[in-house]
Amino acid sequence: MAFELFEPSKAQLGEEKLQKLANRISRKFKVNKIAIRLRGRRQYSIYFGRHIVITLRARDRIEHLLHEFAHHLQHQNFRFAYKSESPHGKTFKKMLWKLIMWYYKGNPKLYDWDREYVSVGIYGLKRIDRLNKKRAGK
Ligand SMILES: [Zn+2]
Repeated sequence: MAFELFEPSKAQLGEEKLQKLANRISRKFKVNKIAIRLRGRRQYSIYFGRHIVITLRARDRIEHLLHEFAHHLQHQNFRFAYKSESPHGKTFKKMLWKLIMWYYKGNPKLYDWDREYVSVGIYGLKRIDRLNKKRAGK
């Protein structure tokens, strides 16, 4: 079965497909391409500035990619904020939200906010709440 990149699936993508997705995000958000490497046994994936390492054991590699790519967007677009804010500060959160809204086609609930860092998860859930109210016309 062919895998559709935009399907909110828990399928474990291999390195090549993760790279294709990363390239697609780079084009969409007009930032430099970044190399994706799939390796390591750590619990968390990492953004290095030059490449992203996604762990082999990541339960959902797409979500790891989206999170790490938000660091890339922050680094490429807001270098000052990247240096002065905490790694998961407000610029990071905004970038992640933008990425998730695009990837999940306006349905940010599909992202697993519960597995995010606590402050990021709270931010996401609050924005979903605001979005729901706005959509309900309140
Ligand atoms: Zn992070």
